Amino acid sequence: MSRTMVAGNWKMNTSPAEGARLIQEVMEKVGTPATRVVFGVPALQLMQAQELVAGHTNYAIAAQNMHQETSGAYTGEISAGMLSEVGIEYVILGHSERRDYAGEDDDLINLKIQRALEAGLRPIYCCGEKLDIREAGNQELVVGKQVEQALYSLDPEQIEKIVIAYEPVWAIGTGRTASKEQAQDMHAYIRRMIANQFGADVAQNLTILYGGSVKPNNAVELFSQPDVDGGLVGGASLDAENFAAIVNAIGG
Ligand code: PEP
Repeated sequence: MSRTMVAGNWKMNTSPAEGARLIQEVMEKVGTPATRVVFGVPALQLMQAQELVAGHTNYAIAAQNMHQETSGAYTGEISAGMLSEVGIEYVILGHSERRDYAGEDDDLINLKIQRALEAGLRPIYCCGEKLDIREAGNQELVVGKQVEQALYSLDPEQIEKIVIAYEPVWAIGTGRTASKEQAQDMHAYIRRMIANQFGADVAQNLTILYGGSVKPNNAVELFSQPDVDGGLVGGASLDAENFAAIVNAIGG
């Protein structure tokens, strides 16, 4: 099975009408993609988005968050079970914006991952270092700890359902991208960690996305790295032409 994927993270952008148009335009431009294409849409649009992609090969929808409990008095929250009941396949967890703005740490993210897996969802687990960590050369230490805390308690069947997105925080929404060497080095490091903990086969099949200012003009060189299996794309996923070009940058 191919490891490749391009996932858009729309964050808190697009009205429902704009969101529906964006999905339709991307699907028109791309046709049947050679890679998995995932739209990470605002919560209000999840069901509409799911209906638009249902039955179309290689397209799927991701939620941008979910709660760690299965139900209860958690005003404003959405559970994993609610997402899977309406056909949502993926959930983005551990995004740096939720770590920063909602105070999520890897223990909480680990709980969310467990809950997501129990409900049959596939987590897209985001990890990545901040600029001061990169400048001090401690990126492997920090990302290694994130991966360990969030994922090592899973069993090998569970880890097979996980997609990891390496997103250096200094590259998110900044227009500054990791070089292809920086991306490849970290992806290879993460894959080695997973191989040591869960075995070589699991690591070999694991999808590891790069995220951080992926654009049509840098996607080909990033995606051509042997351990970069695609991208998690923020800003450029809001423009159908750009997102379609990034999808088409994957060899398949
Ligand atoms: C993101 O938010 O996951 C992201 C990678 O954003 P951008 O592509 O805009 O840097």
